[in-house]
Amino acid sequence: MTWRDLMKEMLNRHGTIAGAALAAVGVGAILLAFVSGSGAASQSSLTVNLPPAATDRIYAVPQARGRPIVVIDAGHGGRDPGARSVSGQAAEKDLTLALARELRDDLVKRGRVRVAMTRDDDRYLTLEDRAEVARRLNAAMFVSLHMDSAPNPLARGASVYSLSDVASDPEAARFAALENAGADVRENEGSVKSILSDLAIRAQMNASADLAARLVNKSAGRFELRPNPHRFASFHVLRRAGTAAVLFEAGYISNADDELELRSPQHRSQVALALAQAIEADVAAHSRR
Ligand SMILES: [Zn+2]
Repeated sequence: MTWRDLMKEMLNRHGTIAGAALAAVGVGAILLAFVSGSGAASQSSLTVNLPPAATDRIYAVPQARGRPIVVIDAGHGGRDPGARSVSGQAAEKDLTLALARELRDDLVKRGRVRVAMTRDDDRYLTLEDRAEVARRLNAAMFVSLHMDSAPNPLARGASVYSLSDVASDPEAARFAALENAGADVRENEGSVKSILSDLAIRAQMNASADLAARLVNKSAGRFELRPNPHRFASFHVLRRAGTAAVLFEAGYISNADDELELRSPQHRSQVALALAQAIEADVAAHSRR
């Protein structure tokens, strides 16, 4: 555990912690040094605003000034590798990052949107860290990139998930449970409510379903999709993003053919292009309203 992880777990973000608790965990000396350094040693509690774990850097060409922001979320990272590929040679976290960078570069080059990334390196982020980027930047949409893994080695193809209270099928429920397991303790303690009112969450779900439909549309015929590729489930990260949000599952790394494709830059560039076109179509549809 790194010092930063420790700080994060103890303090939460913007957290308040009682002085007595510090000594109890055995790192009191370090933290007390921190407290006196900030001139707050006499207080019994301490509030620290830590910098965001995720970056708020915006990637855009100058012509895209004022255009909507799309947050690309490369799933997993750091100590959370995600699914392992069938060959054992690739981890989901590396493939999601490669695809995220390709999608970012495409979108920036095309100049119709601005882009932010929850991560652009191999770092661990909680689901809340990820969703928070979309909220902080008031993003127009949030696209989380993942690869699936299933016990059936023949399962393959891409699918798109949008947010729903009820899963569309048992597999969608299984996938959501797998991805939600990355949530940290805070998120599992019943705080994974929407940040929106009931009415607004319906609008968020509808906007997310529209975006998912466009993603399926642009992908069809260009690469392998699963049967019924638009699926629904309750994903924490999508609910908390507070905007149109989808989870794109680019294929099964538990399938040998899909693994080969997902590790191929040529294949990924086709996927990135389809995603970029769908994202732009969605932005265009909203700006016409
Ligand atoms: Zn994943």
